[in-house]
Amino acid sequence: MTRAVHAAGGKIALQILHTGRYAYHPLAVAPSRLQSPISPFTPFALSSRGVERQIRAFVNCAAKAREAGYDGVEIMGSEGYLINQFLSQATNLRTDDWGGDYSHRMRLPLEILARTREAVGPDFILIYRLSMIDLVPGGSAWDEIVTLGKAVARGGASIVNTGIGWHEARIPTIATSVPRAAFAWVTQKMKAEFAAAGIATPLVASNRINTPEVAEQVLADGCADLVSMARPLLADPAFVKKAIQGRADRINTCIACNQACLDQVFQNRVSSCLVNPRACHETELVYRPIPTAAARKRIAVVGAGPAGLTAATVAAERGHEVHLFEAAPEIGGQLNMAKVVPGKEEFHEMLRYLAMRVQDTGVALHLNRRVQAPDLAGFDEVVVATGVSPRDPHIPGQEHPKVLSYIDVLRHGQPVGERVAVIGAGGIGFDVAEFLVEGGHSTTLDLPAWQAEWGITDPALARGGLAPAGPQATPPARQVTLLRRKKGKLGAGLGKTTGWIHRTTLKRKLVEMVGGVNYERIADEGLLVSYGEKREASAWIACDSVVLCAGQVPLRELADALQAQGRCVHLVGGALEAGELDANRAIDQAARLAARL
Ligand code: NAP
Ligand code: SF4
Repeated sequence: MTRAVHAAGGKIALQILHTGRYAYHPLAVAPSRLQSPISPFTPFALSSRGVERQIRAFVNCAAKAREAGYDGVEIMGSEGYLINQFLSQATNLRTDDWGGDYSHRMRLPLEILARTREAVGPDFILIYRLSMIDLVPGGSAWDEIVTLGKAVARGGASIVNTGIGWHEARIPTIATSVPRAAFAWVTQKMKAEFAAAGIATPLVASNRINTPEVAEQVLADGCADLVSMARPLLADPAFVKKAIQGRADRINTCIACNQACLDQVFQNRVSSCLVNPRACHETELVYRPIPTAAARKRIAVVGAGPAGLTAATVAAERGHEVHLFEAAPEIGGQLNMAKVVPGKEEFHEMLRYLAMRVQDTGVALHLNRRVQAPDLAGFDEVVVATGVSPRDPHIPGQEHPKVLSYIDVLRHGQPVGERVAVIGAGGIGFDVAEFLVEGGHSTTLDLPAWQAEWGITDPALARGGLAPAGPQATPPARQVTLLRRKKGKLGAGLGKTTGWIHRTTLKRKLVEMVGGVNYERIADEGLLVSYGEKREASAWIACDSVVLCAGQVPLRELADALQAQGRCVHLVGGALEAGELDANRAIDQAARLAARL
């Protein structure tokens, strides 16, 4: 397989392959001294000599990649990095030869490309990543993008890849709520332009292509000649092999959550993958087969949520005899709630993969089995992954018939009124609010509706592909008030790269977000709240339903009973620690435990 590295300038991000760590140059440079809304730095405007130095750095980087044995490099001309900033009239205010009209603004990529080609020779792969839709105000117009696309194709690029949106765009481009292959139509437009100009350079489609079926469809529809993927290969490094072997149902699908890859990078942590905890930890998290039949243990895993499923399948893969007990009639635990939230449909893939793993690793699955401590007498090891139960917020009047738990809503589909107060604004409070305002419709499964919701249009109609009328959200299915006791911005604790999407979606659906409340009482009138420590002011929130999303507590009765008998138990997932419980931590913990058993 071709290996390639990104040559990225501007914020000068050097990706060190395999570790997932990013190193940043202390000096940020740009065509003009304009701070990006997502950068902590105001950049230095490059002098003409500085531009020359940048070009030499790109060329040098590509030459060194060749020397190091790479078959090609990708020149990052998109996503709002340095080259892209030179192209846009909004970020390039220069009056020298590198600014002004488009023929001057596009000089930088063409110089980089020409000189790189000269340095690396004709047989080295040079991919140019072309920003085909900037999704920012003042972004490139379609005729400019086409002019550049043709020029890079004729100017030395072996392949042209599709860049979608600047990082600072207020439109999601890779998150799980983005429809699959949502931007393949942009590449298709460029393909038509290339064909009309007699250009045969292959074009690559990108963004939210996460299964072989989606990739094949993009190709079959004539949208592109190739597809590119990054996160799906973190989720499953054997993606391509399994697809070739016709075992696509065995692929561990990237659910586009960003939780363990991008979000961890932004926390200066090694990137990994929520569905594949071995990603970037391959040398330390090794599933060694047990050495002899005598070492084979009988292991009971109780609870078939993400933690239990991972523990069971990893232990079985290593050669142990594993029995997985689940009280419910299906596997998945909390994932079964996530999958019904609009925009979280990818959780179906996670469940499909985990079910296949149970089958393939030979785990003995016992559904509808609520085990007690005596049932586990004959096992060498017991893993308790019994998960969580909803926290009781002890609000006076919470036994009122209008009060529901998030489980009633997401799992049992209980009817919910027109006006709803949601108590608790963590991940689940946000999920429930989205579920309620969408009223059964998911724009993730409806591309035109999703484009309208985010204000995306054809870049041939408006610069940057931003619809002049802006985002057009449909009216909410219900009137929702989202509440929490803590003051401050609601949703601040959600994922770094995805929290803003949830907050924006709820704002557009007119969800009222209220922090700093005390819950006084629930009654026929609705929910009575007061404000401040002294509870000086109070107000009724008129509502037909109140949904409790007040966090969770560990479910540990079984573990306690086993421990009372002197048994050694291993706790994983929510049963170990419910606070800030998430599937990422649960799966990682369970895999590490099972690798040691
Ligand atoms: P959470 O994130 O811990 O949030 C619990 C909420 O309940 C908080 O808003 C908290 O706010 C409130 N609360 C806590 N104790 C309360 C009490 N005694 N009375 C009333 N309210 C109380 O838990 P979660 O929402 O159940 O989510 C669980 C985990 O699932 C999250 O940590 C997250 O990792 C994961 N998840 C994430 C997402 C996402 O990122 N989109 C979606 C779903 C789930 P106050 O204490 O301020 O009132
Ligand atoms: Fe995909 Fe989530 Fe894994 Fe990132 S952490 S590669 S988005 S599944």
